[in-house]
Amino acid sequence: MKPSEKLSQILRLVDKGKGISRKALSEETGLSQASLTKITKTLIEQGYLEEGERVGSGLGRKEVLLYARADRHRFLGIDIGGYKIRVAIADNSLQIHARTEWEMQLFKEHHDKAAFLISSIEAFLESSGISKASIDAIGVGVTGVIDAELQKILNIPNAEGWDNVELPHAMQEAFACPVYMDEGGRTMAIAEKFAGKGTDMEHFITVQIGFGIAAGVIVNDRLLRGSDNVGGLLGHITADNKGIRCTCGNYGCLENIITYPMLELAYSTRGGQAGSLLEAYRTNDKIALDVCLEAGEACGIALSNMVNLFNPRAIYVSGPVIELLPSVFDEMRRTILRRANRFATQRLQMERSSFGNDEGIFGALTLAKAKWMNWF
Ligand SMILES: [Zn+2]
Repeated sequence: MKPSEKLSQILRLVDKGKGISRKALSEETGLSQASLTKITKTLIEQGYLEEGERVGSGLGRKEVLLYARADRHRFLGIDIGGYKIRVAIADNSLQIHARTEWEMQLFKEHHDKAAFLISSIEAFLESSGISKASIDAIGVGVTGVIDAELQKILNIPNAEGWDNVELPHAMQEAFACPVYMDEGGRTMAIAEKFAGKGTDMEHFITVQIGFGIAAGVIVNDRLLRGSDNVGGLLGHITADNKGIRCTCGNYGCLENIITYPMLELAYSTRGGQAGSLLEAYRTNDKIALDVCLEAGEACGIALSNMVNLFNPRAIYVSGPVIELLPSVFDEMRRTILRRANRFATQRLQMERSSFGNDEGIFGALTLAKAKWMNWF
């Protein structure tokens, strides 16, 4: 059963504080200690919370810390990218207990994508010894365009046959639990907001660069969507007005410059001799380094425009391009500091994201948890 709105606020504070006393809860919520004693008693009885160690020093009364119970819930996360689908099962503390992944290619032959994905997940759960009935909620992150109201996948670039797939509806019928879906960049921002570095931030941006670019923008503590749910589409900002045509129809999109396959292409087009860009980069090859510096600069220019528009306190970056080619990140940071308004960069933090290459799957899992808990 989902927690009520009143209880969900308390659960959020306990989750955020990672151990909090009734006294601190009372200070945070403005509720009296007596009513908090009553509410937390209910939450303990219902299995949401448990008591931990006593803290406090000197002669004052020792306070018992309250924790969210890890085993209270089970969430299923599904991260649908252009090249892979990743699936994981996690408990209430978002610790992953089982996970698997499939190449997107595997789905090509199947006309009914939702039905094939559901049967693949059912087989995975069975082989992991996890019952369908034990799952409280499902979160789906999609690197593509989705209809937020109708809860339909409209299009996944680089993957055929995913247009107009009503995945949440089909999954809800198969699993008999709530299914929440959002765009992949946004789920990553949700992961940072509720389980990562952005817990206390009201303004931040998340960016993942791999085979595509996914971005999420939190403004005034809320997800930016825009009027047609495509707000914050960083990958399709024009970065080169003479650039090649993108899958979205525009020319010279950022996604055509700094994604991993594009960097690889740039390296070989310029006469790179090594087997791959990565191999060359590791030997300090000049062409490889130049390709990375230019990519970092292009991304930095796009992000400095975002910084001027949204004035975030932090930018969290992740993805294979950042992890494997650190000079892209360094140049990106330098470019932002050079180009964005100096008042906007004074306190700006630019860091790796909380979940590295697992940002997508944690996004999907956190979406399931935060929605189930009524946190947004
Ligand atoms: Zn584009």
